[in-house]
Amino acid sequence: MTPFICVTCGTQFAPSAASPEACPICVDERQYIGAGGQRWTTLAALRATHMNAWRRHEAGLWGIGTTPGFAIAQRALLLQRPDGNILWDCVTLLDDATVDLVRALGGIRAIAISHPHYYSSMVEWAQAFGAEIWLHAGDRDHVMRPDPAIRFWSGARHDLAPGVTLINAPGHFDGGTMLHWADGAEGRGALLSGDIIQVVPDRRHVSFMRSYPNLIPLNAGTVRDIAAAVAPFSYERVYGAWWDRVVTHDGKARVAASVARYLRWIAD
Ligand SMILES: [Zn+2]
Repeated sequence: MTPFICVTCGTQFAPSAASPEACPICVDERQYIGAGGQRWTTLAALRATHMNAWRRHEAGLWGIGTTPGFAIAQRALLLQRPDGNILWDCVTLLDDATVDLVRALGGIRAIAISHPHYYSSMVEWAQAFGAEIWLHAGDRDHVMRPDPAIRFWSGARHDLAPGVTLINAPGHFDGGTMLHWADGAEGRGALLSGDIIQVVPDRRHVSFMRSYPNLIPLNAGTVRDIAAAVAPFSYERVYGAWWDRVVTHDGKARVAASVARYLRWIAD
């Protein structure tokens, strides 16, 4: 029995004797199946060709991403805390080097993930570190490898640790989640947004889409609701889902300006 991995989205499936028929995550209108058709790999194969790279974004916040890029090529963030480390989002590749380095940094107590495109091999990470996985119940149907480590939370917010709040903002996915880290940016706060709020390449604006690869926008009401979900929080920085997608200054004001710009352009 092998837990197969979809090459296009990086999702690991529950162990099976033969590869699954199709990847529901990629069949969904928010993703796509590559021109070469549905392809599968395994963690063993991935370990032979790829490795993980690290960047210390700021004190207590480590980026972990796979090189060369694999699937959607997001990087995860390890939030190092005295009361137990938190992994925000996840990547498919977990290898011996990553296990040793994460253990040296204090392991992982909890994993929280913004949306199903980054569920990746979350169960492997949970098993390696004895961590709980916190997912919003709105995306329950998108879990391809169920596991007792998965805890579903519901409602608008969930306090994961003191000063660490999960925020639900439906749009890209119903269970779309962001993490507010009150102590980030030297106490001015950081929003770890995945691509629920997407930091764009100029790193001074963000945007919002139901599907990024297939260019399906969100409507005005949904974008206003996403803005309202993060409005009670203060943050200087916004950490998007890729290495270079970080708004380093005036994050809250940049998000507000970006919401106004977005609403201007989709108005009649
Ligand atoms: Zn897939």
